[in-house]
Amino acid sequence: MKTPFITKQQGEALAAQYPTPFHLYDEAGIRSNARALYKAFSWNPGFREYFAVKATPTPAILKLLAEEGCGTDCSSMAELVMSDRCGIRGEGIMFSSNETPAEEFQMAEQLGAIINLDDITHIEFLEKAIGHIPEKVCCRFNPGGVFSLGESNEGFQVMDTPGDSKYGMTRAQIAEAYKILKQKGTKEFGIHAFLASNTISNEYYPALARILFQLATELQQETGCHITFINLSGGIGIPYRPEQPANDIAIIGEGVRKAFEEILVPAGMGDISICTELGRFMLGPYGHLVTRAIHEKHTYREYIGVDACAANLMRPAIYGAYHHVTVLGKEDAPHDHKYDVVGSLCENCDKFAVERMLPKIDIGDLLVIHDSGAHGFSMGYNYNGRLRSAEVLWKEDGSSVLIRRAETLDDYFATVVW
Ligand SMILES: *Cc1c(COP(=O)(O)O)cnc(C)c1O
Repeated sequence: MKTPFITKQQGEALAAQYPTPFHLYDEAGIRSNARALYKAFSWNPGFREYFAVKATPTPAILKLLAEEGCGTDCSSMAELVMSDRCGIRGEGIMFSSNETPAEEFQMAEQLGAIINLDDITHIEFLEKAIGHIPEKVCCRFNPGGVFSLGESNEGFQVMDTPGDSKYGMTRAQIAEAYKILKQKGTKEFGIHAFLASNTISNEYYPALARILFQLATELQQETGCHITFINLSGGIGIPYRPEQPANDIAIIGEGVRKAFEEILVPAGMGDISICTELGRFMLGPYGHLVTRAIHEKHTYREYIGVDACAANLMRPAIYGAYHHVTVLGKEDAPHDHKYDVVGSLCENCDKFAVERMLPKIDIGDLLVIHDSGAHGFSMGYNYNGRLRSAEVLWKEDGSSVLIRRAETLDDYFATVVW
C-alpha cells in the first residue's frame, strides 16, 4: 500500500496556488531519510553523502540536504555552478564525471572539489587542463563482467553488466593510475565504483564494499598509495511498486560495517572514510507529480487524459517504468476500473499507467504520480513544445513554498533566432 504524503484537501489547496501539473517534495520525508542514512553509517567518522545532483538539480533541495550534512556529486558545469551558488564547495563536492571537457575540470579545481577520474588517460588530460595534479584524487573502478547478487529480498534480483558499461578503469589500469598519480604528487587516494542501479536489496552496498575494500588492500600493497576514502556511489533503489519491499538503510550500513571490520581494519586501514553518491534513494519517494484529469476517452481502452505528460516525468515513456498512481480522495474506493492514464505528447508511449486498476476517475480529479522525486523533473524536456512544470516544497509545518516557477512560453522561445 502506497499512500501519498498529502490528502485531497491539501492537494486542492496547493493546486489553487500552483497550477497543475507540478512536482511536490516532502521536506519531512527527505530530512528523516537523510538522518537515517547518517545514523546507519555513524560508525564511520568520516562518512559523507554526496547527493547526486542529476537526480534533482534544484537549489532548495541541495540546500536542504546540505543542512543534513550532505555534499553534492556533480558531473557537469551546470551542476558545479549550482553547487557553488548553494554554498556547497571544496570537499563538499565530488566531481564524478565522464568524457569531461577541460573547462569542467578547471571549474571543479577552482571550487576545490574532489576529482574522480573515470579513466587512466584523464590523468594527462587533467594535468593539461589545470596545470597540475591535485593532492587528493579518486579513481573509478570497473571490474568488468557481470555483477549479480545470488540472494535478494523476496525474489527481486540484482544483476547488472559492468563489462558493458563505459565507466571506470580496469583492475590493471587503476593500479597503474595510482602509481602515475603518486609520482605526480597525489597524497590521498580514493576508489569509486557504481555496479548496479536501483537495487532492491540490502546486500548491494555490502557486496560492493567487499569488492572495493579488498581492492583497496591490494592497491595499497602494490602501490604504497595512501587510500583515505572509498566511494560506494549510488544505486540503492526504492520500491516503485507497492508490493516491493523497501531497502533498510540500517541493515545496509551494518553490512558495510561488517565488511569494513573484516577486511580494512585487519589491514591497518581502519581510518578510511566511506562516502556515497545516492540520488534516487535520497529523493525518489519524497516527490509527487501532481496532475489533474482533464479528459476521458472510451475507445478500445478506457483513457484518462491528464495535464502532465512525459515531458514532466519521462521514466514510464523511456523505460516502461512503473509509477504508482493515487486518485486523491479515492484512496479507499474500490479499484474496479481499468485505465490508461495518458499525457498529451504525440507519442503513444506517453502513458503514466497502462491498463491499471484504479478507482473510477472523474474529470477534475487530482492524481498523484508517486516516486517522482529523483530522475523526475530533472529528465524533463520540451518535446511538443511542452513546458517544464513548477517545483514546490511541502514544508515540515504543512506550509508550501515555490522552489522553481513553471516555464513560460518566453522561456521556451528565449533561445530562438526568429
Ligand atoms: C547517477 C549517478 C549517481 C546516482 O545514482 P542513483 O541511482 O540515483 O543513486 C551517483 N553517482 C554517479 C556517478 C552517477 O552517475
